[in-house]
Amino acid sequence: MAKYEEVLKIFKELGGEIHNGFPAINSEVFYTKNNTPYLKSAGVVMISKPEINIDNMRKFLEGYKNGFEEYLEDPDKLTPGTQLIKTSAQLCYMSFGPKRTKNKDARKYFDNIMSSGHGSVLEHSNYTFLFYGISRSLTHELIRHRAGFAYSQQSQRYVSGDLIRFVERKEFQNDEKLHELFEERIDRIKREYEEIYSILKEKQEKEEIDILKATKDDEHIKTELRKKINQTARAIFTNETEAPIVVTANIRAWRHTIEMRTDSSAETEIRELFFKVFLCLYLVEPILFEDYEIIKYKDGIYGVKTNWRKV
Ligand SMILES: Cc1cc2nc3c(=O)[nH]c(=O)nc-3n(C[C@H](O)[C@H](O)[C@H](O)COP(=O)(O)OP(=O)(O)OC[C@H]3O[C@@H](n4cnc5c(N)ncnc54)[C@H](O)[C@@H]3O)c2cc1C
Repeated sequence: MAKYEEVLKIFKELGGEIHNGFPAINSEVFYTKNNTPYLKSAGVVMISKPEINIDNMRKFLEGYKNGFEEYLEDPDKLTPGTQLIKTSAQLCYMSFGPKRTKNKDARKYFDNIMSSGHGSVLEHSNYTFLFYGISRSLTHELIRHRAGFAYSQQSQRYVSGDLIRFVERKEFQNDEKLHELFEERIDRIKREYEEIYSILKEKQEKEEIDILKATKDDEHIKTELRKKINQTARAIFTNETEAPIVVTANIRAWRHTIEMRTDSSAETEIRELFFKVFLCLYLVEPILFEDYEIIKYKDGIYGVKTNWRKV
């Protein structure tokens, strides 16, 4: 079982910081000689987590006239996401009386939920992350996870080339030749993108290529024309193009995806990302992630394992 101190130590070693209770592991931006921006690791920033007011349940609890409102006086406080799940689960059996599991025994309560696979209650608590410094090939794998997830990804059609950045794979970073090739490649891609962009723009203005024409003559025409150029010019981007994305998911979905993507067989870039997600979620909701064990694989990248997979 992962201990809080162990998780916090690794989180800090990876450059993690907690601001107002929200963890973040940021990633530095580097530049080639020709000023092409690139990043070397995933930035993982928690931007939303649950806020609760279970005291608002007072009238409902009082209505039973058998002292259920005493539930609200539990002296042991849980984190909001954990309390939300526990309260929701306790509603199922109206476990609000004196014989209920008190907050001090929350660990035992959640062990029971996890070991019996009653995972639907974990769907109540949602957490949103901004991921950046990750490649388009990573997000292509990430968005295969559908159940319980919401995504908003930077558009390569709307956003033009001057905001595009790249991600250097770990395999290239400490090898002089591979690193040099990477920098040359992204400089070339940026240069070619700009060249293709200006040729397309000229041809579009002269109406030389039908497929570049706007479909409608309305107030969105400028945006449509720009998107038609961007969507063509982006064809030269490699998988190592950065793809910032905002991702929201509930605890059940995060747990399943952490298990799949930190497995030894997972691709290394996505394994690194999901290990950082695990660290951030653990630090916010320790009780919901304490069953995980941290593993450092031979390739130097961490992963996690649990006996209660796919709750
Ligand atoms: C190491 C690794 C290698 C992979 N290699 C490939 C590959 O070569 N090619 C490839 O195409 N994909 C590959 N994948 C992707 C994989 O097949 C899944 O699509 C992806 O991991 C999403 O997981 P999931 O199916 O559990 O879906 P999620 O959306 O995360 O859903 C969670 C769970 O909800 C249930 N669920 C979700 N949607 C449905 C549904 N529509 N109907 C019924 N139940 C549902 C399932 O129980 C599912 O496991 C790979 C994944 C991993 C981790």
